[in-house]
Amino acid sequence: MTEPVIARFAPSPTGFLHIGGARTALFNWLYARNKGGKMLLRIEDTDRARSTQEAIDAILDGMRWLGLDWDGEPVFQFSRADRHRAVVEELLAKGKAYRAYDTVEELEAMRANALAAGKPPRYDGGWRHRDPSEAPAGVKPVIRLLTEDAGETVVEDAVQGTVTFPNADLDDLVLLRSDGTPTYMLAVVVDDHDMGITDIIRGVDHLTNAARQIQIYRALGWDVPRMAHIPLIHGPDGAKLSKRHGALGVEAYREMGYMPAALRNYLVRLGWSHKDQEIFSTDEMIAAFGLDSVGRSAARFDYDKLENLNGHYMRATPDDDLIAVFKQSLPYLKGGPEAQKKLDAGLWDAFRIMLPAMKERSKNFLELLDNASFLLDERPLKPDPKAAQTLDMAGTRDLLGRLTPRLAALADWTGEAIEAEVRAFAETEGAKLGQVAQPLRAALTGKMVSPPIFEVLAVLGRNESLARLGDQAG
Ligand code: GLU
Repeated sequence: MTEPVIARFAPSPTGFLHIGGARTALFNWLYARNKGGKMLLRIEDTDRARSTQEAIDAILDGMRWLGLDWDGEPVFQFSRADRHRAVVEELLAKGKAYRAYDTVEELEAMRANALAAGKPPRYDGGWRHRDPSEAPAGVKPVIRLLTEDAGETVVEDAVQGTVTFPNADLDDLVLLRSDGTPTYMLAVVVDDHDMGITDIIRGVDHLTNAARQIQIYRALGWDVPRMAHIPLIHGPDGAKLSKRHGALGVEAYREMGYMPAALRNYLVRLGWSHKDQEIFSTDEMIAAFGLDSVGRSAARFDYDKLENLNGHYMRATPDDDLIAVFKQSLPYLKGGPEAQKKLDAGLWDAFRIMLPAMKERSKNFLELLDNASFLLDERPLKPDPKAAQTLDMAGTRDLLGRLTPRLAALADWTGEAIEAEVRAFAETEGAKLGQVAQPLRAALTGKMVSPPIFEVLAVLGRNESLARLGDQAG
């Protein structure tokens, strides 16, 4: 029987959950779910100066928003420092680690010499075999891993293939700093081991770390988990992803009005493919996901593609489901809280009726809000420049003035009845339908583009519609 898969996502809470981190989390989650295993969450908060509660909250919130759950409680790395120190004691006792008493000046000289000789700066292993009695007074030691000079360290990577590092390139890394704090490299290994991690999936920027971590596993006699180092995400121009490109926190995407399902679908295709399929339900993603279809070349972030995908999701999501997702995003959208108040005060039914027409014209929730402005804006509307131009055309306000009493006299206030009356009115005026409908749209919505105008009148209701007409008619 094969052992159950235990993957993990291990963010450092020094900033928000950025888009690359979100994709790493997604890949781990899909991998674990595909294998019927678990995904654990470990917050790597050992950098005390840069780790913040705000960042931890943003990471957890971002994951929840994206629908990426984790098994069990998050593990906080800093809280495990005693265990990390105990492991270092074990390595010292086994002769696999040693105390190094180099002074800052000595380390700097070592660095300078190496650079002058055109070599990469490496620790020279000077304290490997020296006795602590030789230690200079007042220097607190660091504890270093005793690594092999000869041979090589091989990373068998599910994405990168077999990657070989000559041991001569890997110096004796610090496990415990002179103040007794464990290093990141040590903490990751001990935690992954203790958490029973079977698979490590993370960015390829950790590949060299993998070689160093394997040395620690070996020194401890522990099994090395399977590893997969996934390519980074680049901007559309091929340069490393920066803020300018969209290397924002996932909460920024919520504020931009994207649906979590669409962002998830977008992220899964950054580096992974399944035939030429672009749209995946969550279940399809889980069923199809595998590391063998993760490419090695950097993925390119493409806003237009995300935008189109989101538009697709909005159109394809059943209206009630879409409203539920929209409601969750509303508080984060610009103008959202005010819109929410108005909708909650009795406009949700009208919103629901108009949603099919509004979502056709919206690629994100901000556009949806904008398309709903005819419902949310209050009288007297301020027509936008194009609508104002239409209303100001000679004869238009008078035309609306003649139409108003005819609409007021309608027995039934339905889209069909209104349309029939407007058509009849256009005929008596010797005008085309558009010559009446466009000014009507301008007066009723303040815009030249809106959902079908007769439906607009119907949902606004007789009083509001006639009042808006009255505001503009001559
Ligand atoms: N904490 C590391 C980071 O956020 C990840 C370490 C790992 O996955 O091993 O980049």
